[in-house]
Amino acid sequence: MNNKIVILGAGISGLTTAYLLNKDGYDVTVLEKKNEVGGSIETVFDKGYLFDRGPNSGLETTPLIEQIVNDLKLSDQFVYANRKGNKRYILRNDVLHPLPMNPKSFLKSRLFSSRGKFRLFAELFIGRSKDGYYQSIGEFVKRRLGQEFLDYAINPFVAGVYAGNPEDLSVKSAFPKLYALEEKYGGLIKGTIKSIKERKNRPEKSKQDAKMFSFNDGMQVFPLAISEFLGEKVHLNSEVNSVETVQSGYKINYSNSGGLSSVDCNYLISTIPAYTASTLFGRFDSFLAEHLNKIYYPPVLVLFIAYDIKDIGQPLDGFGFLIPAKEKKSFLGAIWSSVLFPNRAGEGQASFTLFIGGARDPGVLTYDKDLLIKRVRNEFETLMRIVGEPIYLTYKFWPKAIPQYNLGYIEHENYFDKFEKDNPGILLSGNYREGISVGDCIKNSEKILNKIKKLSNKEGV
Ligand SMILES: Cc1cc2nc3c(=O)[nH]c(=O)nc-3n(C[C@H](O)[C@H](O)[C@H](O)COP(=O)(O)OP(=O)(O)OC[C@H]3O[C@@H](n4cnc5c(N)ncnc54)[C@H](O)[C@@H]3O)c2cc1C
Repeated sequence: MNNKIVILGAGISGLTTAYLLNKDGYDVTVLEKKNEVGGSIETVFDKGYLFDRGPNSGLETTPLIEQIVNDLKLSDQFVYANRKGNKRYILRNDVLHPLPMNPKSFLKSRLFSSRGKFRLFAELFIGRSKDGYYQSIGEFVKRRLGQEFLDYAINPFVAGVYAGNPEDLSVKSAFPKLYALEEKYGGLIKGTIKSIKERKNRPEKSKQDAKMFSFNDGMQVFPLAISEFLGEKVHLNSEVNSVETVQSGYKINYSNSGGLSSVDCNYLISTIPAYTASTLFGRFDSFLAEHLNKIYYPPVLVLFIAYDIKDIGQPLDGFGFLIPAKEKKSFLGAIWSSVLFPNRAGEGQASFTLFIGGARDPGVLTYDKDLLIKRVRNEFETLMRIVGEPIYLTYKFWPKAIPQYNLGYIEHENYFDKFEKDNPGILLSGNYREGISVGDCIKNSEKILNKIKKLSNKEGV
Protein backbone atom coordinates (compact mmCIF):
# COMPACT_ATOMS: atom_id res chain seq x y z
CA MET A 1 0.00 0.00 0.00
CA ASN A 2 2.07 2.90 -1.27
CA ASN A 3 -0.26 4.90 -3.40
CA LYS A 4 -3.64 4.31 -1.84
CA ILE A 5 -5.75 7.46 -1.93
CA VAL A 6 -9.12 8.10 -0.31
CA ILE A 7 -11.19 11.02 -1.57
CA LEU A 8 -13.97 12.42 0.60
CA GLY A 9 -17.00 13.57 -1.40
CA ALA A 10 -18.30 12.68 -4.85
CA GLY A 11 -19.14 16.16 -6.07
CA ILE A 12 -17.44 17.35 -9.25
CA SER A 13 -14.20 18.14 -7.34
CA GLY A 14 -13.91 14.68 -5.82
CA LEU A 15 -14.88 12.82 -8.97
CA THR A 16 -12.63 14.63 -11.43
CA THR A 17 -9.75 14.31 -8.96
CA ALA A 18 -10.45 10.57 -8.63
CA TYR A 19 -10.69 10.27 -12.41
CA LEU A 20 -7.29 11.90 -13.02
CA LEU A 21 -5.54 10.00 -10.24
CA ASN A 22 -7.02 6.70 -11.39
CA LYS A 23 -5.83 7.42 -14.92
CA ASP A 24 -2.36 8.01 -13.53
CA GLY A 25 -2.30 4.60 -11.87
CA TYR A 26 -3.18 5.52 -8.28
CA ASP A 27 -5.47 3.29 -6.26
CA VAL A 28 -8.45 5.52 -5.44
CA THR A 29 -11.53 5.13 -3.28
CA VAL A 30 -14.23 7.80 -3.15
CA LEU A 31 -16.52 7.99 -0.11
CA GLU A 32 -19.81 9.85 -0.57
CA LYS A 33 -22.42 10.27 2.12
CA LYS A 34 -25.44 10.66 -0.17
CA ASN A 35 -27.02 7.90 -2.25
CA GLU A 36 -26.00 9.60 -5.49
CA VAL A 37 -23.03 11.47 -6.91
CA GLY A 38 -22.81 15.10 -8.04
CA GLY A 39 -22.95 17.07 -4.76
CA SER A 40 -24.24 20.52 -5.74
CA ILE A 41 -24.87 19.22 -9.26
CA GLU A 42 -28.35 17.72 -9.12
CA THR A 43 -30.65 17.15 -12.08
CA VAL A 44 -34.21 15.94 -11.61
CA PHE A 45 -36.76 14.81 -14.19
CA ASP A 46 -40.40 15.14 -13.29
CA LYS A 47 -43.52 15.11 -15.50
CA GLY A 48 -41.40 15.76 -18.59
CA TYR A 49 -39.45 18.66 -17.05
CA LEU A 50 -35.71 18.74 -16.51
CA PHE A 51 -34.68 20.85 -13.52
CA ASP A 52 -31.03 21.50 -12.71
CA ARG A 53 -31.28 22.28 -9.01
CA GLY A 54 -27.67 23.49 -8.72
CA PRO A 55 -25.54 24.74 -11.62
CA ASN A 56 -27.49 25.08 -14.88
CA SER A 57 -24.31 25.23 -16.95
CA GLY A 58 -20.53 25.39 -16.77
CA LEU A 59 -17.93 27.45 -18.59
CA GLU A 60 -15.42 25.56 -20.69
CA THR A 61 -12.39 27.28 -19.16
CA THR A 62 -10.08 24.28 -19.44
CA PRO A 63 -9.37 21.75 -22.23
CA LEU A 64 -9.65 19.09 -19.53
CA ILE A 65 -13.44 19.25 -19.79
CA GLU A 66 -13.46 18.30 -23.47
CA GLN A 67 -10.84 15.65 -22.80
CA ILE A 68 -12.93 13.94 -20.09
CA VAL A 69 -16.10 14.30 -22.19
CA ASN A 70 -14.36 12.56 -25.10
CA ASP A 71 -12.74 9.87 -22.92
CA LEU A 72 -16.13 9.03 -21.45
CA LYS A 73 -17.84 9.10 -24.86
CA LEU A 74 -20.20 11.84 -23.77
CA SER A 75 -19.91 13.95 -26.95
CA ASP A 76 -23.51 13.14 -27.94
CA GLN A 77 -24.73 14.50 -24.63
CA PHE A 78 -22.43 17.54 -24.47
CA VAL A 79 -24.12 20.73 -25.64
CA TYR A 80 -23.13 24.39 -25.90
CA ALA A 81 -25.65 27.05 -24.95
CA ASN A 82 -27.78 28.58 -27.68
CA ARG A 83 -26.06 31.67 -29.11
CA LYS A 84 -29.02 33.72 -27.87
CA GLY A 85 -27.48 33.18 -24.43
CA ASN A 86 -24.87 35.85 -25.22
CA LYS A 87 -27.54 38.45 -24.60
CA ARG A 88 -28.04 39.10 -20.90
CA TYR A 89 -30.44 41.54 -19.34
CA ILE A 90 -30.12 43.70 -16.25
CA LEU A 91 -33.14 45.19 -14.53
CA ARG A 92 -33.30 48.93 -14.00
CA ASN A 93 -36.48 50.81 -13.05
CA ASP A 94 -38.56 47.74 -13.89
CA VAL A 95 -37.20 47.59 -17.45
CA LEU A 96 -34.94 44.79 -18.74
CA HIS A 97 -31.91 46.37 -20.45
CA PRO A 98 -29.49 44.29 -22.52
CA LEU A 99 -26.05 44.32 -20.92
CA PRO A 100 -23.82 46.12 -23.47
CA MET A 101 -21.12 43.79 -24.78
CA ASN A 102 -19.05 46.21 -26.90
CA PRO A 103 -18.11 49.91 -26.81
CA LYS A 104 -20.75 50.88 -29.40
CA SER A 105 -23.64 49.24 -27.58
CA PHE A 106 -22.29 50.61 -24.30
CA LEU A 107 -22.51 54.17 -25.61
CA LYS A 108 -26.06 53.56 -26.84
CA SER A 109 -27.23 51.63 -23.76
CA ARG A 110 -29.92 53.03 -21.49
CA LEU A 111 -28.75 50.84 -18.63
CA PHE A 112 -26.24 53.52 -17.61
CA SER A 113 -26.69 57.29 -17.42
CA SER A 114 -24.38 59.60 -19.43
CA ARG A 115 -22.66 60.51 -16.17
CA GLY A 116 -22.09 56.82 -15.38
CA LYS A 117 -20.62 56.28 -18.85
CA PHE A 118 -18.23 59.24 -18.51
CA ARG A 119 -17.14 58.01 -15.11
CA LEU A 120 -16.18 54.67 -16.63
CA PHE A 121 -13.68 56.28 -18.99
CA ALA A 122 -12.03 58.08 -16.06
CA GLU A 123 -10.78 54.61 -15.09
CA LEU A 124 -7.87 55.14 -17.45
CA PHE A 125 -6.49 57.77 -15.09
CA ILE A 126 -6.92 55.95 -11.78
CA GLY A 127 -3.79 54.41 -10.27
CA ARG A 128 -3.17 51.13 -8.48
CA SER A 129 -4.67 50.48 -5.06
CA LYS A 130 -3.56 48.87 -1.82
CA ASP A 131 -3.53 45.13 -1.18
CA GLY A 132 -6.63 43.58 -2.72
CA TYR A 133 -7.02 40.80 -0.17
CA TYR A 134 -8.50 43.33 2.23
CA GLN A 135 -10.38 45.29 -0.40
CA SER A 136 -13.90 44.23 -1.35
CA ILE A 137 -14.93 43.94 -4.99
CA GLY A 138 -17.44 46.69 -4.15
CA GLU A 139 -14.75 49.14 -2.99
CA PHE A 140 -12.49 48.20 -5.90
CA VAL A 141 -15.14 48.78 -8.56
CA LYS A 142 -16.50 51.94 -6.97
CA ARG A 143 -13.00 53.44 -6.94
CA ARG A 144 -12.10 52.38 -10.46
CA LEU A 145 -15.40 52.53 -12.32
CA GLY A 146 -17.81 54.51 -10.16
CA GLN A 147 -20.91 53.84 -8.05
CA GLU A 148 -23.28 53.37 -10.98
CA PHE A 149 -21.22 50.63 -12.60
CA LEU A 150 -20.97 48.94 -9.21
CA ASP A 151 -24.73 49.11 -8.71
CA TYR A 152 -25.88 48.12 -12.19
CA ALA A 153 -23.17 45.78 -13.48
CA ILE A 154 -21.06 44.34 -10.67
CA ASN A 155 -23.69 44.02 -7.97
CA PRO A 156 -25.99 41.85 -10.14
CA PHE A 157 -23.01 39.96 -11.59
CA VAL A 158 -21.75 39.06 -8.10
CA ALA A 159 -25.26 37.91 -7.18
CA GLY A 160 -25.34 35.77 -10.35
CA VAL A 161 -22.00 34.07 -9.71
CA TYR A 162 -21.64 33.83 -5.92
CA ALA A 163 -25.15 34.72 -4.71
CA GLY A 164 -22.89 37.12 -2.83
CA ASN A 165 -22.48 40.73 -1.70
CA PRO A 166 -19.90 42.94 -3.42
CA GLU A 167 -19.21 44.70 -0.10
CA ASP A 168 -18.13 41.41 1.51
CA LEU A 169 -16.24 39.50 -1.21
CA SER A 170 -12.49 40.07 -1.36
CA VAL A 171 -11.54 41.33 -4.83
CA LYS A 172 -8.25 39.47 -4.86
CA SER A 173 -9.55 36.18 -3.46
CA ALA A 174 -12.89 36.05 -5.29
CA PHE A 175 -11.95 37.80 -8.55
CA PRO A 176 -8.18 37.26 -8.83
CA LYS A 177 -8.06 37.81 -12.59
CA LEU A 178 -9.86 41.15 -12.34
CA TYR A 179 -7.52 42.32 -9.61
CA ALA A 180 -4.53 41.13 -11.64
CA LEU A 181 -5.49 43.52 -14.46
CA GLU A 182 -4.91 46.42 -12.09
CA GLU A 183 -1.83 44.88 -10.48
CA LYS A 184 -0.17 43.94 -13.78
CA TYR A 185 -1.31 46.61 -16.21
CA GLY A 186 -2.33 49.47 -13.90
CA GLY A 187 -6.02 49.48 -14.85
CA LEU A 188 -8.99 47.46 -16.10
CA ILE A 189 -9.45 49.06 -19.51
CA LYS A 190 -5.72 49.00 -20.31
CA GLY A 191 -5.40 45.51 -18.88
CA THR A 192 -8.37 44.10 -20.79
CA ILE A 193 -7.02 45.37 -24.12
CA LYS A 194 -3.49 44.10 -23.48
CA SER A 195 -4.50 40.74 -22.06
CA ILE A 196 -6.76 39.88 -25.05
CA LYS A 197 -3.63 39.41 -27.15
CA GLU A 198 -1.89 37.30 -24.53
CA ARG A 199 -4.94 35.10 -23.96
CA LYS A 200 -5.12 34.08 -27.62
CA ASN A 201 -1.96 31.99 -27.18
CA ARG A 202 -3.15 30.05 -24.12
CA PRO A 203 -5.07 26.72 -24.14
CA GLU A 204 -7.04 27.79 -21.06
CA LYS A 205 -9.85 30.27 -21.66
CA SER A 206 -10.78 33.19 -19.44
CA LYS A 207 -14.35 33.17 -18.16
CA GLN A 208 -15.43 35.88 -20.59
CA ASP A 209 -14.10 33.92 -23.62
CA ALA A 210 -15.14 30.45 -22.51
CA LYS A 211 -18.17 28.74 -24.01
CA MET A 212 -21.11 27.85 -21.81
CA PHE A 213 -21.95 24.14 -21.80
CA SER A 214 -24.30 21.58 -20.33
CA PHE A 215 -25.60 18.14 -21.31
CA ASN A 216 -28.81 17.22 -23.08
CA ASP A 217 -29.99 15.42 -19.97
CA GLY A 218 -28.72 18.06 -17.55
CA MET A 219 -25.53 18.81 -15.65
CA GLN A 220 -25.60 15.66 -13.50
CA VAL A 221 -24.80 13.60 -16.60
CA PHE A 222 -21.15 14.54 -16.08
CA PRO A 223 -20.60 13.32 -12.48
CA LEU A 224 -22.77 10.27 -13.18
CA ALA A 225 -20.60 9.30 -16.17
CA ILE A 226 -17.36 9.75 -14.22
CA SER A 227 -18.75 7.69 -11.36
CA GLU A 228 -19.91 4.94 -13.73
CA PHE A 229 -16.42 4.82 -15.21
CA LEU A 230 -14.84 4.54 -11.76
CA GLY A 231 -17.34 1.77 -10.85
CA GLU A 232 -16.73 0.14 -7.47
CA LYS A 233 -14.16 2.74 -6.51
CA VAL A 234 -17.04 5.07 -5.65
CA HIS A 235 -18.88 4.17 -2.43
CA LEU A 236 -22.27 5.80 -1.95
CA ASN A 237 -24.13 6.05 1.38
CA SER A 238 -20.73 6.25 3.05
CA GLU A 239 -20.56 9.15 5.47
CA VAL A 240 -17.10 9.79 6.84
CA ASN A 241 -17.22 10.33 10.62
CA SER A 242 -13.61 10.57 11.71
CA VAL A 243 -10.01 10.44 10.54
CA GLU A 244 -7.12 8.98 12.56
CA THR A 245 -3.38 8.92 12.00
CA VAL A 246 -1.89 5.44 11.54
CA GLN A 247 1.64 4.33 10.72
CA SER A 248 1.18 4.15 6.96
CA GLY A 249 -0.89 7.31 6.73
CA TYR A 250 -4.53 7.75 7.69
CA LYS A 251 -7.47 5.64 8.77
CA ILE A 252 -10.87 6.86 7.61
CA ASN A 253 -13.90 5.74 9.62
CA TYR A 254 -17.26 5.88 7.90
CA SER A 255 -20.77 4.58 8.30
CA ASN A 256 -22.60 2.73 5.54
CA SER A 257 -25.58 0.42 5.21
CA GLY A 258 -23.59 -2.39 6.87
CA GLY A 259 -22.79 -0.27 9.94
CA LEU A 260 -19.32 1.09 10.60
CA SER A 261 -16.36 0.57 8.26
CA SER A 262 -12.87 1.91 7.87
CA VAL A 263 -10.25 2.19 5.18
CA ASP A 264 -6.52 2.97 5.45
CA CYS A 265 -4.71 5.17 2.94
CA ASN A 266 -1.45 6.98 2.31
CA TYR A 267 -3.12 10.14 1.05
CA LEU A 268 -6.42 11.72 1.91
CA ILE A 269 -8.12 14.33 -0.28
CA SER A 270 -11.05 16.12 1.28
CA THR A 271 -13.56 17.73 -1.11
CA ILE A 272 -16.41 17.96 1.37
CA PRO A 273 -17.72 21.45 2.33
CA ALA A 274 -15.61 23.53 4.75
CA TYR A 275 -18.21 23.34 7.55
CA THR A 276 -18.12 19.52 7.45
CA ALA A 277 -14.34 19.30 7.04
CA SER A 278 -14.06 21.37 10.22
CA THR A 279 -15.55 18.58 12.35
CA LEU A 280 -13.34 15.90 10.76
CA PHE A 281 -10.05 17.76 10.95
CA GLY A 282 -10.73 19.78 14.10
CA ARG A 283 -9.18 17.02 16.21
CA PHE A 284 -5.94 17.42 14.24
CA ASP A 285 -5.86 21.18 14.58
CA SER A 286 -8.44 23.33 16.36
CA PHE A 287 -7.29 26.51 14.56
CA LEU A 288 -7.99 24.83 11.23
CA ALA A 289 -11.54 24.10 12.41
CA GLU A 290 -11.98 27.79 13.24
CA HIS A 291 -10.78 28.86 9.80
CA LEU A 292 -13.02 26.34 8.05
CA ASN A 293 -16.03 27.39 10.12
CA LYS A 294 -15.55 31.04 9.22
CA ILE A 295 -16.25 30.41 5.53
CA TYR A 296 -19.78 31.60 5.00
CA TYR A 297 -22.23 29.64 2.82
CA PRO A 298 -25.41 31.70 2.31
CA PRO A 299 -28.77 30.01 1.68
CA VAL A 300 -30.28 29.95 -1.82
CA LEU A 301 -33.71 28.86 -2.98
CA VAL A 302 -33.82 27.77 -6.63
CA LEU A 303 -37.26 28.00 -8.22
CA PHE A 304 -38.12 26.28 -11.48
CA ILE A 305 -41.26 27.43 -13.34
CA ALA A 306 -42.72 26.60 -16.75
CA TYR A 307 -45.36 28.53 -18.71
CA ASP A 308 -47.09 28.31 -22.02
CA ILE A 309 -45.01 30.40 -24.45
CA LYS A 310 -48.10 32.18 -25.75
CA ASP A 311 -48.68 33.60 -22.25
CA ILE A 312 -45.28 35.32 -22.15
CA GLY A 313 -45.04 38.92 -23.42
CA GLN A 314 -41.26 39.33 -23.05
CA PRO A 315 -39.30 38.14 -26.14
CA LEU A 316 -37.19 35.13 -25.13
CA ASP A 317 -33.97 36.12 -26.84
CA GLY A 318 -31.31 35.81 -24.19
CA PHE A 319 -29.71 34.09 -21.20
CA GLY A 320 -32.11 35.71 -18.74
CA PHE A 321 -31.71 38.63 -16.38
CA LEU A 322 -30.03 39.71 -13.17
CA ILE A 323 -31.41 42.12 -10.62
CA PRO A 324 -29.29 44.78 -8.88
CA ALA A 325 -29.89 45.07 -5.11
CA LYS A 326 -30.98 48.69 -5.65
CA GLU A 327 -34.05 47.46 -7.53
CA LYS A 328 -35.37 45.93 -4.29
CA LYS A 329 -36.93 42.77 -5.65
CA SER A 330 -37.44 39.47 -3.84
CA PHE A 331 -35.14 37.45 -6.09
CA LEU A 332 -31.66 37.71 -7.60
CA GLY A 333 -32.40 36.89 -11.21
CA ALA A 334 -33.73 34.33 -13.66
CA ILE A 335 -32.18 32.02 -16.21
CA TRP A 336 -34.30 31.36 -19.28
CA SER A 337 -33.46 27.67 -19.14
CA SER A 338 -35.38 26.42 -22.17
CA VAL A 339 -33.83 29.15 -24.35
CA LEU A 340 -30.32 28.02 -23.47
CA PHE A 341 -30.50 24.24 -23.70
CA PRO A 342 -32.74 21.61 -25.32
CA ASN A 343 -35.13 19.35 -23.36
CA ARG A 344 -35.77 21.92 -20.62
CA ALA A 345 -39.51 22.27 -21.35
CA GLY A 346 -42.30 20.67 -23.42
CA GLU A 347 -43.39 21.74 -26.89
CA GLY A 348 -44.80 25.29 -26.90
CA GLN A 349 -43.59 25.92 -23.34
CA ALA A 350 -40.76 27.87 -21.74
CA SER A 351 -39.04 27.09 -18.45
CA PHE A 352 -37.16 29.41 -16.10
CA THR A 353 -34.84 28.98 -13.14
CA LEU A 354 -34.98 31.74 -10.54
CA PHE A 355 -32.51 32.30 -7.70
CA ILE A 356 -33.69 33.69 -4.36
CA GLY A 357 -31.82 34.73 -1.20
CA GLY A 358 -28.03 34.44 -1.15
CA ALA A 359 -25.88 36.77 0.96
CA ARG A 360 -28.14 39.62 -0.18
CA ASP A 361 -31.13 38.13 1.61
CA PRO A 362 -30.13 35.34 4.04
CA GLY A 363 -33.60 35.64 5.64
CA VAL A 364 -34.68 33.11 3.01
CA LEU A 365 -33.52 30.54 5.56
CA THR A 366 -36.55 31.22 7.75
CA TYR A 367 -39.15 32.83 5.45
CA ASP A 368 -42.37 30.98 4.78
CA LYS A 369 -41.47 29.37 1.44
CA ASP A 370 -45.01 29.41 -0.01
CA LEU A 371 -45.45 33.13 0.68
CA LEU A 372 -41.99 33.89 -0.65
CA ILE A 373 -42.61 31.96 -3.88
CA LYS A 374 -45.94 33.73 -4.33
CA ARG A 375 -44.22 37.12 -4.03
CA VAL A 376 -41.40 36.14 -6.39
CA ARG A 377 -43.86 34.75 -8.92
CA ASN A 378 -45.81 38.00 -8.89
CA GLU A 379 -42.70 40.09 -9.51
CA PHE A 380 -41.37 37.71 -12.18
CA GLU A 381 -44.67 37.49 -14.04
CA THR A 382 -44.99 41.28 -14.08
CA LEU A 383 -41.45 41.78 -15.42
CA MET A 384 -41.87 39.06 -18.05
CA ARG A 385 -45.39 40.22 -18.94
CA ILE A 386 -46.81 36.77 -18.29
CA VAL A 387 -50.59 36.50 -18.27
CA GLY A 388 -51.31 32.83 -17.50
CA GLU A 389 -50.63 30.55 -14.55
CA PRO A 390 -47.51 28.36 -14.42
CA ILE A 391 -47.97 24.89 -15.90
CA TYR A 392 -45.34 23.48 -13.59
CA LEU A 393 -43.51 24.74 -10.49
CA THR A 394 -41.00 23.16 -8.16
CA TYR A 395 -38.05 24.28 -6.04
CA LYS A 396 -34.93 23.23 -4.23
CA PHE A 397 -33.72 24.94 -1.08
CA TRP A 398 -29.96 24.94 -0.35
CA PRO A 399 -29.46 26.06 3.29
CA LYS A 400 -25.69 26.36 2.65
CA ALA A 401 -25.24 26.97 -1.05
CA ILE A 402 -21.97 28.56 -2.17
CA PRO A 403 -18.81 29.40 -0.17
CA GLN A 404 -17.99 33.11 -0.09
CA TYR A 405 -14.38 34.23 -0.54
CA ASN A 406 -14.99 37.19 1.76
CA LEU A 407 -12.56 39.77 3.16
CA GLY A 408 -9.99 37.94 5.26
CA TYR A 409 -10.26 34.77 3.16
CA ILE A 410 -6.49 34.97 2.59
CA GLU A 411 -5.91 34.11 6.26
CA HIS A 412 -7.99 30.96 5.83
CA GLU A 413 -6.17 30.09 2.61
CA ASN A 414 -2.76 30.54 4.27
CA TYR A 415 -3.82 28.36 7.17
CA PHE A 416 -5.05 25.61 4.82
CA ASP A 417 -1.57 25.59 3.22
CA LYS A 418 0.06 25.44 6.65
CA PHE A 419 -2.20 22.56 7.70
CA GLU A 420 -1.27 20.59 4.57
CA LYS A 421 2.43 21.12 5.34
CA ASP A 422 1.97 20.06 8.99
CA ASN A 423 -0.04 17.00 8.00
CA PRO A 424 1.68 15.60 4.91
CA GLY A 425 -0.67 13.46 2.88
CA ILE A 426 -3.87 15.37 3.68
CA LEU A 427 -5.05 17.77 0.97
CA LEU A 428 -7.95 20.15 1.44
CA SER A 429 -9.84 20.68 -1.79
CA GLY A 430 -13.36 21.43 -3.02
CA ASN A 431 -15.09 24.63 -4.01
CA TYR A 432 -13.98 26.67 -1.00
CA ARG A 433 -10.47 26.62 -2.50
CA GLU A 434 -9.35 27.81 -5.97
CA GLY A 435 -12.78 28.92 -7.17
CA ILE A 436 -16.43 27.96 -6.88
CA SER A 437 -17.40 27.37 -10.51
CA VAL A 438 -17.69 23.89 -11.99
CA GLY A 439 -14.81 24.79 -14.35
CA ASP A 440 -12.62 25.96 -11.44
CA CYS A 441 -13.33 22.75 -9.49
CA ILE A 442 -12.30 20.68 -12.53
CA LYS A 443 -9.17 22.77 -13.08
CA ASN A 444 -8.25 22.40 -9.42
CA SER A 445 -8.33 18.61 -9.69
CA GLU A 446 -5.30 18.86 -12.01
CA LYS A 447 -3.48 20.85 -9.33
CA ILE A 448 -4.34 18.17 -6.76
CA LEU A 449 -3.01 15.48 -9.12
CA ASN A 450 0.26 17.37 -9.32
CA LYS A 451 0.46 17.80 -5.55
CA ILE A 452 -0.04 14.03 -5.09
CA LYS A 453 2.59 13.30 -7.74
CA LYS A 454 5.06 15.47 -5.84
CA LEU A 455 4.20 13.88 -2.51
CA SER A 456 4.50 10.36 -3.92
CA ASN A 457 7.70 11.19 -5.80
CA LYS A 458 6.23 10.87 -9.29
CA GLU A 459 7.28 13.87 -11.34
CA GLY A 460 4.72 16.54 -10.36
CA VAL A 461 4.91 19.91 -12.10
C1 LIG B 1 -27.68 26.72 -6.47
C2 LIG B 1 -26.32 26.66 -7.08
C3 LIG B 1 -26.12 27.16 -8.36
C4 LIG B 1 -24.86 27.10 -8.94
N1 LIG B 1 -24.69 27.55 -10.22
C5 LIG B 1 -23.50 27.39 -10.84
C6 LIG B 1 -23.36 27.65 -12.24
O1 LIG B 1 -24.31 28.03 -12.91
N2 LIG B 1 -22.15 27.45 -12.80
C7 LIG B 1 -21.08 27.00 -12.09
O2 LIG B 1 -19.99 26.84 -12.68
N3 LIG B 1 -21.18 26.73 -10.77
C8 LIG B 1 -22.36 26.89 -10.13
N4 LIG B 1 -22.50 26.57 -8.81
C9 LIG B 1 -21.30 26.18 -8.04
C10 LIG B 1 -20.86 24.74 -8.30
O3 LIG B 1 -21.96 23.95 -8.64
C11 LIG B 1 -20.21 24.15 -7.06
O4 LIG B 1 -19.25 25.05 -6.53
C12 LIG B 1 -19.51 22.83 -7.36
O5 LIG B 1 -20.40 21.94 -8.01
C13 LIG B 1 -19.00 22.25 -6.05
O6 LIG B 1 -18.43 20.99 -6.25
P1 LIG B 1 -17.59 20.27 -5.10
O7 LIG B 1 -17.34 18.89 -5.54
O8 LIG B 1 -16.41 21.11 -4.75
O9 LIG B 1 -18.52 20.30 -3.80
P2 LIG B 1 -19.93 19.62 -3.58
O10 LIG B 1 -20.69 19.59 -4.83
O11 LIG B 1 -20.52 20.31 -2.40
O12 LIG B 1 -19.58 18.12 -3.19
C14 LIG B 1 -19.18 17.73 -1.91
C15 LIG B 1 -19.67 16.30 -1.68
O13 LIG B 1 -19.22 15.86 -0.38
C16 LIG B 1 -20.25 15.05 0.18
N5 LIG B 1 -20.04 14.98 1.64
C17 LIG B 1 -20.28 15.95 2.57
N6 LIG B 1 -19.97 15.48 3.80
C18 LIG B 1 -19.50 14.22 3.65
C19 LIG B 1 -19.01 13.22 4.55
N7 LIG B 1 -18.92 13.44 5.88
N8 LIG B 1 -18.64 12.02 4.06
C20 LIG B 1 -18.71 11.77 2.71
N9 LIG B 1 -19.17 12.68 1.82
C21 LIG B 1 -19.56 13.89 2.27
C22 LIG B 1 -21.53 15.78 -0.21
O14 LIG B 1 -22.65 14.94 -0.09
C23 LIG B 1 -21.20 16.17 -1.66
O15 LIG B 1 -21.61 15.18 -2.56
C24 LIG B 1 -23.76 26.57 -8.21
C25 LIG B 1 -23.97 26.06 -6.92
C26 LIG B 1 -25.23 26.09 -6.35
C27 LIG B 1 -25.45 25.50 -4.98
